[in-house]
Amino acid sequence: MKTILITGASRGIGKAIAEGFAKKGYCVGINYKQSDKDAKEVYNKIIDNGGNAILLKGDVGNDADVKNIVNQFINAFGHIDVLVNNAGISNKGLFIDETNEKTFDIINTNLVGCLNTCKAVLPNMVANNYGKIINISSIWGQVGASMEATYSASKAGIIGLTKALAKEYGYSNITVNAICPGVIDTDMNNNLSHEEKNELKKSILVQRFGEPSEVFDLVEFLVEKGDYITGQIITLDGGFIL
Ligand code: NAP
Repeated sequence: MKTILITGASRGIGKAIAEGFAKKGYCVGINYKQSDKDAKEVYNKIIDNGGNAILLKGDVGNDADVKNIVNQFINAFGHIDVLVNNAGISNKGLFIDETNEKTFDIINTNLVGCLNTCKAVLPNMVANNYGKIINISSIWGQVGASMEATYSASKAGIIGLTKALAKEYGYSNITVNAICPGVIDTDMNNNLSHEEKNELKKSILVQRFGEPSEVFDLVEFLVEKGDYITGQIITLDGGFIL
C-alpha cells in the first residue's frame, strides 16, 4: 500500500495531485486549512471512485496541528511514502505597504509550514528507509518578483531547505526535490483581470498558463521514476523565466 500526504489539497494544484494519486491507488492524506466544502468534495470524489483517503484539517504553520495531521495519517495508513508540500498563500503589493501580520502569515504558511511537515514526517521515512519529499516552490523563489517580495523570500527559503534536506537524508533513501511552477491556472491568480491574464500569457513562451494536472504529471514522475533525482529545483513554467 503506497501512501501520500499532500498539504493544501482542497483546491488548485494540491487537489489535482490528490485526485491523480488516488486514481493510481495511493492512500491519500488531504490536508487543508479552512475550505471544508472543497476538501470534502475532493474526499468524496476519491471515495466514490473506490479510492482511499483521509481528511486532515489543520494549519501547516502551526506545529501542533502538523504533529496531529501526521499522527492521524500514520494511524490511518501505517507509514508515509510521499510528502508533497503544496500549501501556500500569496500577496501582491508594495513590500513597504505590507503589514507585519501579512509578512508573518506568508512566511509562516509557505516556509515554516514546509519545515514543520518535513520535521514531522522524516522520522517515519528514516525508519522505513524510504521517502519522497516534493516541495512546491515557485519561479519567484528563483528570480524574485516585484510586488511579491515576501512570497519570493518564502519560496527561495524552500529551495534552500530542499537542497539541505536532500544532503541530510539521502543516506536514508529519501529524495527531496522542489518544483518551481510559473503561472498555473488556479484561484491563486483570480486577482488578475482577463486583460492582465492575456498580457501575461504573451510573456510565456508557450503562450498559456499551466494546468494543475501538469504539476501532478511532474510530481508523479518524481515519485515513480525519480529514485536517482534529488536536491533538484525543477522549473515548470512554459518558458516564462528562460
Ligand atoms: P490555491 O488554489 O490558492 O490553493 C491553496 C491551497 O493551500 C488550498 O488548499 C488551501 O487550503 C491551502 N492552504 C493555504 N494555507 C494553508 C495552511 N496554513 N495550512 C494548510 N493548508 C493551507 O493555490 P495553488 O495555486 O493551487 O497553489 C498551490 C501551491 O503552488 C502554493 O504553494 C503556491 O505558492 C504554489 N504556486 C502556485 C502558482 C500558481 O500560479 N497557481 C505558481 C507557483 C507556485 P484552504 O482551501 O483550506 O484555504
